[in-house]
Amino acid sequence: MSKLPNVGTTIFSVMSALAAENKAINLSQGFPDYDCSDELKSMVNEAMQQGHNQYAPMPGLLQLRSAIATKIAGLYQQNIDPESEITITPGGTYAIFTAIATYIRPGDEVIVFEPAYDSYIPNILVNGGTPVLISLSFPEYRINWQEVRNKITPRTRMIMINTPHNPTGSILQEDDIRELEKIVAEFDLLVLSDEVYEHLVFDGQQHHSILRYPNIFKNSFVTFSFGKVFHNTGWKMGYCIAPKHLTQEYRKVHQYLCFSVNTPMQYGLAKFLETPSHYLELPAFYQQKRDYFLELMRGTKFTPLSTKGSYFQLMQYDRISDEGDKDFAIRLTKEFGVAAIPVSAFYDKGKDDHVVRFCFAKKDETLERAAERLAKI
Ligand code: GLN
Repeated sequence: MSKLPNVGTTIFSVMSALAAENKAINLSQGFPDYDCSDELKSMVNEAMQQGHNQYAPMPGLLQLRSAIATKIAGLYQQNIDPESEITITPGGTYAIFTAIATYIRPGDEVIVFEPAYDSYIPNILVNGGTPVLISLSFPEYRINWQEVRNKITPRTRMIMINTPHNPTGSILQEDDIRELEKIVAEFDLLVLSDEVYEHLVFDGQQHHSILRYPNIFKNSFVTFSFGKVFHNTGWKMGYCIAPKHLTQEYRKVHQYLCFSVNTPMQYGLAKFLETPSHYLELPAFYQQKRDYFLELMRGTKFTPLSTKGSYFQLMQYDRISDEGDKDFAIRLTKEFGVAAIPVSAFYDKGKDDHVVRFCFAKKDETLERAAERLAKI
């Protein structure tokens, strides 16, 4: 009997396949259509040439973990111990799954905010947990903390947050963090904070990483992705940061899931991180893309929602059609040659606010061609 009877193929594979089949411009699945840095590629090549081609240590290469700790000290003013608090993982999705697998037992409840990245709920279910779903307010996509309190029971074990948020582009604010801090302390909950878009925060706003807040961090797993920030999603490289006592348990699971992550990429990334401009330039780079996409989309009948971070832009299409978002996204791909993700795919019960998600991590010319096509609707 299936452990996930209601799960089909992920919407990202479905829409990317439909885009390819229809030769549509693919603004659906979140990945850049430009290459990662040549310098970074050379650093990885060099590591291969130098013979760094055997297993890395189980928790990851210490140089890479140290480089991450240095970055965190600079960005979030926090001392993280590379030896005992950082684990390199094959991607952010894996980092999330492993945190859930480490602590969630049958019957445990996990609070998840919807729309939610599509792996969260299956990850909880496959570990026997019960997702407790709370909708973010529409259209600001903010958390109603009173509702969170109302949904906490003696079985609540973990609360999952995601900032900047996929698919909505909202970010948690300081007052959200303060509410979270109180709740975590009061009910002794674990926090799983998915921060894969940490550097993609716009308009001078701050990324409220949980790493900044020791009272929350002491109960937290915080997950990151190199692919999302350094434009190499195909490398599947990420990491999980958690205090020592949680990391110890995390590694017990990790060592028997994949043991260790590929070695030359770790050497290359460790070296690349030595130059802080490689990540400090990212907010401006992506803000320019967001602004350019919004400017181009002014020539269409789509209505943008506010995007404060991530590389996603939500658009309402109520001035175009009243069909459901899945039908609309399919028609958009087939008839107009642009693929997007229907946001109802991120709701367990398929809540449909007639909104689609576009990924703007694309070359300017790709965004221009897409907007030209979308202006015809
Ligand atoms: N995170 C990417 C997105 O939201 C996709 C990752 C995947 O395809 N699994 O589009």
